[in-house]
Amino acid sequence: MAVVEQTVLEALKGVIDPNTGRDFVSSKAVKNLTVTDGDVAFDVTLGYPAKSQIPGFRKELIAAAKSVAGVANVSVNIVTNITAHAVQRGVALLPKVKNIVAVASGKGGVGKSTVASNLAVALSQSGLRVGLCDCDLYGPSIAHMFGTDERPYQNDEQQIVPIEKHGLQLMSMGFLLEDASPVIVRGPIATRYTQQFLRQCAWNDLDVLVLDLPPGTGDIQLTIVQTVSLDGAVIVTTPQEVALIDARKAVGMFQKVNVPILGIIENMSYFLCPSDGKVYHIFGKGGGEHEAKRLGVPLLGQIPIEMDVRESGDEGHPIALEDPAKSASSKVFREIAAQLR
Ligand code: ADP
Repeated sequence: MAVVEQTVLEALKGVIDPNTGRDFVSSKAVKNLTVTDGDVAFDVTLGYPAKSQIPGFRKELIAAAKSVAGVANVSVNIVTNITAHAVQRGVALLPKVKNIVAVASGKGGVGKSTVASNLAVALSQSGLRVGLCDCDLYGPSIAHMFGTDERPYQNDEQQIVPIEKHGLQLMSMGFLLEDASPVIVRGPIATRYTQQFLRQCAWNDLDVLVLDLPPGTGDIQLTIVQTVSLDGAVIVTTPQEVALIDARKAVGMFQKVNVPILGIIENMSYFLCPSDGKVYHIFGKGGGEHEAKRLGVPLLGQIPIEMDVRESGDEGHPIALEDPAKSASSKVFREIAAQLR
């Protein structure tokens, strides 16, 4: 008996995508189905990253197709294709970048660059093509956190080509500066330099670009949010009131330019003491949660204070690269990335 395409499609409808609640056929994820004698082949295009789930999807889809009488061989090609979001009106898109997320804090030292780096790594681990751009002219730290002193080169179009590390495309003002050179550009020159920097990076087909903004809410930050079209911003804070006061200012800045706040990440939320197993809330408790509620945005995650977070940052190997089963922070970063995808 000849196998007909319709029968195979009906069988595939039995597999539900847990991320959308719909089957892969109705959601139009299944494409290019061909049936030649007993050989079935089709593609599945996912609109979101699901690297860790793909082997399971493949197994279920193959089993469903093979349940049709006469089907002998099944070949499935599963790919992820992220679509670009709607953008801020009147603000330029960056070429070859589908989505841009800013990581901001009102205050320095709350771990914003640590969070930006690890979030970028966690997004990349979920199967996205990710870039990370350190926009802090006065205290760039991404180069250090990724353990690279490589300098980017300029291509024939006079663009600066990002550096590749741990599967990410990285760009930092730090790459363009000599070691320890004090950056003394201020005011309008700093603004122009930042704008030029953002527009001249040669990103290579990114699903998401994470921008590590400088701390605070001054002219430079405002310039950045008005130069590139942001899909959203994530605010990093520690739990105590002094940090939250400044976090509110950062939220206000994004709201003024109509950039959605995707959520709050509370860093240094607690310390799990290895010797007595107790949890200590060194910087207070519940601040991030309270603030997220007040703003009506999600609290995306609470990252503990861990020696490994600091050490791995200093060793150029962000903690999110670690197995989440072995590191509490790595696990939280993966959970945050899953909410943003
Ligand atoms: P910011 O970008 O807000 O100025 P950084 O990301 O540079 O802050 O972090 C400041 C310091 O705190 C760094 O040495 C970093 O390794 C450390 N740090 C940040 N988050 C944590 C954490 N959750 N646990 C331990 N150390 C942390």
